[in-house]
This record gives sequence, structure tokens and C-alpha cells, in this order.
Amino acid sequence: MAEYDYDLFTIGAGSGGVRASRIASQLGARVAIAENDRIGGTCVIRGCVPKKLFVYASQISEDIADAAGYGWDVSDADFSWRKLIENKDAEIQRLSEIYEKNLNKAGVVVHREHAQIIGPNKILLTPSNKTVTAERILIATGATPVLPDIPGIEHAITSNEAFHLDELPRRVAIVGGGYIAVEFAGIFNGLGCETSLLYRGEEILRGFDGDLRKILHEEMENKGVRIQTQTQVEAIEKTGNGLLLRLGGGGTLETGLVLYATGRRPNTDGLGLEEIGIKRAPNGAVAVDAYFHAGKNVYAIGDVIDRIQLTPVAIREGAEFARNAFARKDAEIMDYEFIPTAVFSQPALSTVGLTEEEVRERYAGVFVYESRFRPMRHTLSGRNETMYVKLVAGPAEGGGPVRPGSLLGAHLVGRDTAEMVQLLAVLLRLGATKEDFDAAVAVHPTAAEELVTLTNMRK
Ligand code: NDP
Repeated sequence: MAEYDYDLFTIGAGSGGVRASRIASQLGARVAIAENDRIGGTCVIRGCVPKKLFVYASQISEDIADAAGYGWDVSDADFSWRKLIENKDAEIQRLSEIYEKNLNKAGVVVHREHAQIIGPNKILLTPSNKTVTAERILIATGATPVLPDIPGIEHAITSNEAFHLDELPRRVAIVGGGYIAVEFAGIFNGLGCETSLLYRGEEILRGFDGDLRKILHEEMENKGVRIQTQTQVEAIEKTGNGLLLRLGGGGTLETGLVLYATGRRPNTDGLGLEEIGIKRAPNGAVAVDAYFHAGKNVYAIGDVIDRIQLTPVAIREGAEFARNAFARKDAEIMDYEFIPTAVFSQPALSTVGLTEEEVRERYAGVFVYESRFRPMRHTLSGRNETMYVKLVAGPAEGGGPVRPGSLLGAHLVGRDTAEMVQLLAVLLRLGATKEDFDAAVAVHPTAAEELVTLTNMRK
């Protein structure tokens, strides 16, 4: 008779929790998972997936405008927000069901309940009030939007609600300058809303390569997004016909809807962590070691550990945890080098490796290759939009982290650059140099060929 009901109990059926559970089960572990919302987590239900569908929807307005240059007359095109929401909801439902089916197929027991740790290896499920035991407990509960405590904040929505608006507002103000803020600015602007982006800092997307931030800012403004940097919202007031934002320095902004995208906080309240002696950071993140162990056979992965809040990172962390726990003789440490990422702004911003600023800080003898160009698509469309690509190479001698002269960062702005950066991540991991890129024959005519024909170099 086994000592515990399960070998692994996962709390949270989002991307990370589901991956860890399925792999553990496939490796022969007896696994259960608890989820008190829909199966699929933030990415599937209220994040990456519906967001990308909205991005596609909003880009079509530009395609329609561009069509004329290619000889098309689509002047009577019409858009229905309601239809988009309906179709998006149906797709999310389909995906959520697939996630659940995959868990069932892998033999994972699914509890559609809230789970709380009530002692070492012991979990209470509510509302059933059932207690289960597990040798290992994995916390994969994700994160939730945080809003600053200012007067009138109750009038603001977050990205969670943006996916279910009854109507598309005529005017939108978005507060924040990170991934979600710039992505939703592009979505609302593309769908025809008067869109303002209010950011407290000097330039949007802090932490990304400086040229990318500047160029994306220009391109977004070019498309009609009003970006106000160094702007704090001090209060939100309801008025007869919308909302009034009171800004630092005395300014105001009238709008119909205000969306806050000011970061996300790990979901760890009510899990019973302190009670069993598991530490949390001030923002609620579970403190884990290099093997995702928080202590007392409790592990945590994904947004809840607040390392890199990206779905594919959570998925990889889940897989590494499961293999370490149930397959490997010697546990391995996850490799966080060269994680590619894309902000689905319009145009998109895609990046892998170190920013130019980071490379300069760490190494002497840095080479930067770049090009800003008008993509062929916009010759006939007449659209005034550019693309930008930049490769940053480390010193030719003494070396970057991979090999001397290898590329340490690749940074792109432009539609479909997210499709390019995936393969750039493979190349940078392998230690490709600028000469390796030059040796590759271009695919013509594409935007990607710019990457293998870069001649403009600065040190
Ligand atoms: P981010 O951490 O990316 O950005 C938060 C933004 O809000 C920053 O610009 C920050 O400013 C600003 N901010 C924070 N607190 C305040 C405040 N009190 N008042 C005004 N502004 C404030 O968070 P997001 O919410 O955009 O997204 C959460 C995470 O989700 C991202 O970090 C990302 O990892 C993930 N994500 C990934 C996506 C993708 O892969 N495409 C898409 C969406 C989300 P400052 O810079 O000054 O700190």
C-alpha cells in the first residue's frame, strides 16, 4: 500500500502545471491536479491565445487599408466586435477542452476544486472538503494583475476584462509600458479606438534593447497610438460621458475606458504556505532553489516563482521539474540562456539574448550590425512603416558566453519578426557568428534576408 494517495499533486492547471503533470504521469507517477477555474490557465483562457487572436483581428484593418495599393476595392468592409468575441470564446473553449482531454489521456486525475496545503504532503480540496496526500506538491498557480491603489481605481479594468467587453469603446487609455500595455494599445488602435498609452518612465518596454524601444515607440505613434511617457495617473473620476484621468503635473485625459497593465503578482494567497514554513517574497512569489524546490517537498514553477513570466518558460520549468523528480538519476538545472521573446505589439518586437546595452556593459570590443528598411510589402501599400533588425556580436577574442565573436543578441521590430526570432534563438545558442550569417545564402525577396546581408557595422 502506497504511503501517499499520489506521487505528485499539482495545484494549478495552466501551461506549466499541465506540462509537469502530463510528463510526470507519462513517466509512471500517480498524478493529480487541482484547478478552481477553467483548465488552461492564463495563457489559454485570458492571455497569449485570445490576445494573439485580437492582434490578428486588429491587423486586418491595416490589411484592408493596404489592399487598395494592390488593386483591391474593399471599401465596404465592416467589423463586428461581438462576432470576434463569440468566435474567440468558442476557440478558447475548444482549447480548454483539449487541455482537459490531454490530462485525462495521460492518466492525470483532475480535481475541479480549490486546493490548500494543510500540512506536509497534505492537501485540502474545497468545496468537497476532501483531504488527499502526495509525496510531492507542485505549485503552478500563476499570477494575477496588480493595480496601484489610487482614487477611482475601481473604474479601471485589466486585461482579464478586456477579453469580454460588451462593446468596443471609442476611446481607450492604457496605463503601463510593458508587454500587455503595448500589445493592447496596438489591438485597440487597430480596431479603430482612439488609443492613449500612459507610461510613468522615460521610454516604453524597460529592460528591452534601447533601439527597439525607441523604434517601436515611433512606429506605434505612426499608427496613431498617443504615447505619453513620464506620466503618472493620480486619480480616475467617473463623468457624465466616460472617465477623467487626473495626471501628475496637473493635466487631465478624458477617455471611455481605462485599462491597467501594471504588472502581475504571483497567486499564492490562501495556499497555506506560511503555515507549513514555506517562504514567500514580498510580492508573494514562492522562493525556490535551482531545482524549483521550496522546501518540505513543495515545488513551484512558472509565474508563481516570478523568474521570467513567459508561458514557454513555465512549460520548460514544468518539464524539467517532472524529469528531475521522476526520471533522472542526477537532477539537472534549467538553462535560462537565450530565451527568445516577442511582444505582439504592432509592429511586433522580437528579441533574443543580451541587449546592446548589456553587451557593452559586459564586454569590450562589441560589434553591432543593423538595418532599418521599408519592407517590400509597403512599396505598393504606400504605408509608411519600417522594419528594424540588429545583431550584436561579442568580442572577436576572449569570447562571449558561447565562442569568440559569437552573436550575443538579436533584436527586431516588424510584423512577423516573432516568426524569425524563434530560429535566431537556435543560432545564438549554437554560437553562430556574423560570418556564419554572411555565409548563408539569402531567401529573396523576404524581410528575413536582411539578417544575412547586413553591412552596416558600428563599434
Ligand atoms: P510588465 O512587468 O511587462 O510591465 C508593467 C508595466 O507597468 C511597466 O511598464 C511598469 O513600469 C508599469 N508599472 C508598474 N507599476 C506601476 C504603477 N504603480 N503605476 C504605473 N505604472 C506601473 O507587466 P505586464 O502587466 O505588461 O505583463 C506581465 C507579464 O506577463 C510580462 O512581464 C510578461 O512576462 C508576461 N507577458 C508576456 C507576453 C508575451 O510573451 N508576448 C504578453 C503579455 C504578458 P516600469 O517599467 O517603470 O516598472
